[in-house]
Amino acid sequence: MSRDTAPTVSIVSPMWNEAEAADHFLTALVELVATLNTSCEILIVDDGSTDGTAEILHSWQTRFPQLRVLSLSRNFGHQAAITAGVFAARGDAVIVMDSDLQDPPSLIPQMLEEWHQGADVVYAVRKARSGETLFKRASASLFYRLLGRLSSTPIPADTGDFRLMNRDVVEALRSMPERDRYMRGMVSWVGFRQVPVYFDRAERIRGETKYPLSKMIKLGTAGIVGFSDKPLYLAVTFGFAAMGLAFLGLLYVALSIIFGWGDLVRGWASVVVAVMFFSAVQLIFLGVIGLYISRVFVEAKQRPLYIVKQDSLVTPE
Ligand code: UDP
Ligand code: MG
Repeated sequence: MSRDTAPTVSIVSPMWNEAEAADHFLTALVELVATLNTSCEILIVDDGSTDGTAEILHSWQTRFPQLRVLSLSRNFGHQAAITAGVFAARGDAVIVMDSDLQDPPSLIPQMLEEWHQGADVVYAVRKARSGETLFKRASASLFYRLLGRLSSTPIPADTGDFRLMNRDVVEALRSMPERDRYMRGMVSWVGFRQVPVYFDRAERIRGETKYPLSKMIKLGTAGIVGFSDKPLYLAVTFGFAAMGLAFLGLLYVALSIIFGWGDLVRGWASVVVAVMFFSAVQLIFLGVIGLYISRVFVEAKQRPLYIVKQDSLVTPE
């Protein structure tokens, strides 16, 4: 492993407050990399950790100068951290994995094998998930199925960000300047030859999950809104259906006046119910439209996705 010549494989892993897991992860990864018969770059993206992760990484660097650390200036979030790492990686193949050993390094040789066989993307599919709450497993499963139905790009189910991408795919990702990055969807959208490998997702080795429900909902929304315009069409369809119903109602009122059916004062309740119902439909879908407008807003701002504070490759200590 050398700092000067471009490595064949880059292993990119984001860390945010992983002081408890970092040692375990790096030990396992360095051990595995030593068995690979290829030049490897380990690139840790420190996503603004405040718990001593930076110090741990620093002490690793004194022992393993080939460990590269990209420190972001604050916490930019998982997807931005991955993007930073993938864009900075120099390898012909770039592997992205979590730093809590939920993505097993032992799967890397199999991924490299598929890559040697000609795959452009090798994505890891979770067969089983241990140590995660029933709620997390159920909500993730439901989300992947929903996204699968809604998305116009087929996005593989039960697949996280653990994957290998070759240079072409990385360059293609670079050409997509969108701010709201749902990496799994973007990689699927890019195309090329994509091959799955299967693994059992283990428990997080140490520390707490950095993905509470609120962040999962945010990521899920980015996935659906960023890769599907079907909710918008649903709004239009509902709108037309509601209009059709309204015309039928109008017809009934007109006919009942002409033919003098029943007592016209009666039925006020149904009018109120109808008004409420249609207001609700409007409100719901105004919300849906709002989601899309909010995305346009985010795109229009064109802020940098992340700001690199320091890249140990450029200014080695
Ligand atoms: N992570 C990050 N920035 C964040 C949140 C998470 O870099 O804002 C990293 C985290 O250190 C881990 C990976 O992203 O390596 C996945 O996070 P986590 O394991 O907490 O998610 P989970 O596996 O529980 O979905
Ligand atoms: Mg995890």
